[in-house]
Order: sequence, then structure tokens, then C-alpha cells
Amino acid sequence: MFKQASWKEEPILNLGRHGRRGHVLPKAEKEIVQATGSIEALVPEQMRRSSKANLPELSEVEVARHFIRLSEMNYGVDSGFYPLGSCTMKYNPKINEQLASLPTVNMLNPYQDESTVQGILEILYKLERWLAEITGTYEVCLQPAAGAHGELLGTLLMRAYHRSKGEQNKRTEVIVPDSAHGTNPASAAMAGFNVVVVPSDDEGCVSLGALKAAVSEKTAGLMLTNPNTLGIFEKNIDEIARIIHEAGGLLYYDGANLNPLLCKVRPGDMGFDVVHINIHKTFGTPHGGGGPGAGPVGVCGALAKFLPVPRVIFDDGTYKLSYDGPCSIGKIKGYYGNVAVLLRAYAYILALGRKGLEEAAEVSVLNANYMVKKLKEIKGLILPYDDVKLRKHECVFSAKPLKKDTGVSAQNIAKRLLDYGIHAPTIYFPLIIDEALMIEPTESFEKEELDRFVEAMQKICREAYTDPEVVIKAPYNAAVSRLDEVKASHPRTMALSWRMYLKRKAQDSNNI
Ligand SMILES: *Cc1c(COP(=O)(O)O)cnc(C)c1O
Repeated sequence: MFKQASWKEEPILNLGRHGRRGHVLPKAEKEIVQATGSIEALVPEQMRRSSKANLPELSEVEVARHFIRLSEMNYGVDSGFYPLGSCTMKYNPKINEQLASLPTVNMLNPYQDESTVQGILEILYKLERWLAEITGTYEVCLQPAAGAHGELLGTLLMRAYHRSKGEQNKRTEVIVPDSAHGTNPASAAMAGFNVVVVPSDDEGCVSLGALKAAVSEKTAGLMLTNPNTLGIFEKNIDEIARIIHEAGGLLYYDGANLNPLLCKVRPGDMGFDVVHINIHKTFGTPHGGGGPGAGPVGVCGALAKFLPVPRVIFDDGTYKLSYDGPCSIGKIKGYYGNVAVLLRAYAYILALGRKGLEEAAEVSVLNANYMVKKLKEIKGLILPYDDVKLRKHECVFSAKPLKKDTGVSAQNIAKRLLDYGIHAPTIYFPLIIDEALMIEPTESFEKEELDRFVEAMQKICREAYTDPEVVIKAPYNAAVSRLDEVKASHPRTMALSWRMYLKRKAQDSNNI
């Protein structure tokens, strides 16, 4: 059985010893030292700090050991199965990393003259065109740093559109189905709209009756997640689009999980005016742990003039950054977006091509439906909306019967899976399913890996019926056992920086 390393590793700032160094002088530094006598001369005198930066002093081998140990207590998409629903934890090809770490990419400075960055501008320009083609939109903005950030941009664009028609005071409501991703209502509210929630019907899709009742002259637009968070394709998407457009609203497509639809259907062709896609889910770039992502937004022709500046344009044989946007809503992010993430997506799309992207979509759907078929046989689990024949990229099971029979919850299953060396699926989401287990296998894992997951789920549910305590107290083999989840997410106890950590520690010792 799987057993994770467990080191008692101190924060790196506690590990240093005065005088230890792991530093190799690069050539440039050597030259500066020779020319000026000191490395400090690199920094203008008025910008040098007088106090010492409180940095740990360690040798190279200490640093290497520290981070290797931390990585041994971690679990990533390169470690094994990672079915975190809605997050599309697909494998991130290593060639993307190689390209993104080329000095010609990672040594670029956003203030460099355009003539010296023609290569990266060409990449951004082409990626915009490819994403417009893939989403069926007219123009794409690469700037947003994440899906939720794309949603904020999209809803701000909706506001700008209504304002341009003099309707900003009238169009105050954004409709969001109850099966939407939680960021949708949050983004609409941040953009200043009131959120109107419509329920799902008994097939897990937007209830048309409820939608018609919710639409009015106040409707600014609808935000639709498709496939929805149940992994189901909205069967009435044309009708939904018609209802909203007839009411004068705009259609927003949450395409964070475009993976299963790549090169099959396009949001623009379904009538959607604004689309965001999560590069870090759909196009093989790493994510998780709050690292950089990218949530480009594509828009129809009528909204293009509101997009943020600068835009990359191709003019007279050269790529340029155009700040010419009299109707632009302004900037949504510093510089041009998370360029290194975008470059990885460019490499991914280039490597797979149209056929490869389509195959990725097909295998992701095949894998999700294989999960459905296998997991349905397990006692204790049920598949809500079972009448809907197929899922797209993911499926949502409910452990409600298991909880009722044995007391073992979805959370307990998730914790016990860690003992089998498998990352837990998303749990308790979407909110409309009790004891939800949201499973997204992606196209990256082979059949043997899927079968290992099914086998682990079978064993865990069997354990629940024979010896529920075993499951309830799991995990035993992970680097850490049950965490205090409230403490871990409470702003009063979180220490997000070294300074905060020291402050909390001082407070704690005062309290004792
Ligand atoms: C992940 C996700 C989002 C949010 O994306 P972030 O990059 O995490 O901000 C929005 N909608 C859906 C459907 C998602 O799966």
C-alpha cells in the first residue's frame, strides 16, 4: 500500500546559519565586481536598503534537501490519479515547461521595445486567433489571470455594453443557474449586478419554465456553465439563448471546462456573446495552489470595442501593442497577462493540432463515462440524474445511501482515498447534490489507472459496511492526517507570509 513520506521540516527561514552560502557568481556579476568593486553597485545608491534583509543563509544542498522533502509530502498530477472534478487536472506536457523556461522567454521584460519582442508578440497574436477560432468568437483578450478574473472582465463588458445603450440603470440583473460554478454569481455581484438564481429541472439542466419567469426588462444577461457542474450538456441551449437575447440580455458562457467540447461545438455558434476559457484546465498548463493561470475572454463583434488595452495588432509586417481603444473598459491586469502560461497553451495547441484537440475531448468524455458505468455498480453510491444517458468530462455521484447506512460521508471517502495513493475528487460540490463526489478523470490517465481508482472506491465502500471507523479515521498513510479545516481556512489563523507567521507566533506565546 501507498505510504507518503513525513518529514518534520521547519520553515526555511528557521534553517539558516550565518555564513552559509550556496551562491555561484554568474559571469555578469563577476564582470560587475571587476569593474566596480562591488555587487551593490548594481543598485542605485538611493535605492539600497540600510537595514539587512532578513534572509536565511543556507548552502545549496540544504536548499535542495528542503524542497525535495516538501515535494515528498506533496501529491501532484505527476504523482498519480487526480480526479478533482471541475478542475481538469490533466497532465502538463514537459515540453511546455522547457519552452517556458527558455531565457528568450523568461528573461523578457514588459518594458522592452516592441521591436525586440516580435517573437512573443507573434505568439500572443496567434494564440488570440486560435482561441477565437476554437470558441467561435470574434476577438479574444488574453489578459485575465484566472477563470474568475475572466468572468469579472466578461461581466464588466456586459455592463459597458448596456451603458453604451443608455440602459445601465435598467439592466441590473444577471441570471445564474443553481448548477453554475460558484465563481459565476460572485463575479456578477462584483461587477455590480444583482444575481437571480434559477433552479435545475429533473434532468439536471436549466429549468426553462423558471428561466422564462426570471427574465425581464431588468435582465442584463445570463451566465451559463456548459457542460454544467454535473457534467451534463445543457440540452436546451438554443432555446436558452433565444429567451435571453429576445429579452435584450447578453449571453455569457463559462467555458472553464471546454475540454470535452474542443473542436466539437463552439460557444459562439450557440449564440453566446462572451466566453471565458481556463487555459490552465483545458490547454495543459499547470495549476493549483494558487499559482498563475490564465482565463482569456472571447467576445462577439458588438463587444470587441470594449476590450481592455493594449491589443496586439499586426500592422505593416510587424507586431505592435495598440493602446487605441476609446471605448475600452480600461486595464484588467498589469502588462499583457500571464505570458508564460499563455506560451505553454500555445505550445500545447501547436503540438496537438485540431485532430489532437478533438481526440483529447473524446477521450476525456470516454473516461468520464467509463467511471459512471463502473462506479454505478458500487453499493452505497448513486448517480443523481441517472436518466440522462451520457456525461461529458465529469460525473457527480452521491454517497448519501452510504452515509445513511454506515455513517461514512463523502469527506471520509475522500480522506481514505489518500491512503490508496489517489488524490481525492472534489466533494460537496455542486451544492445541489447531497454528499457529492465530483469525479473528472480527464484524458490523461490510462485504463489501468482508472481501474485502480474504481478498485479503491469499491474497497472503501466495502470497508464502510464492515468497519466504518477505519474509513472515518483515515488517512493513515498520508504525510498529515486530519487537518483542522476551520483553522486552516480562517483568516485569523492563516499565516500567508513570514512576517504574519512571526506575528501569530508571538501572539500565540503571549496567549499562553
Ligand atoms: C475552475 C472554474 C472556474 C474558475 O476558474 P479559476 O481559474 O479557478 O478562477 C469557473 N467556472 C468553472 C466551471 C470552473 O470549473
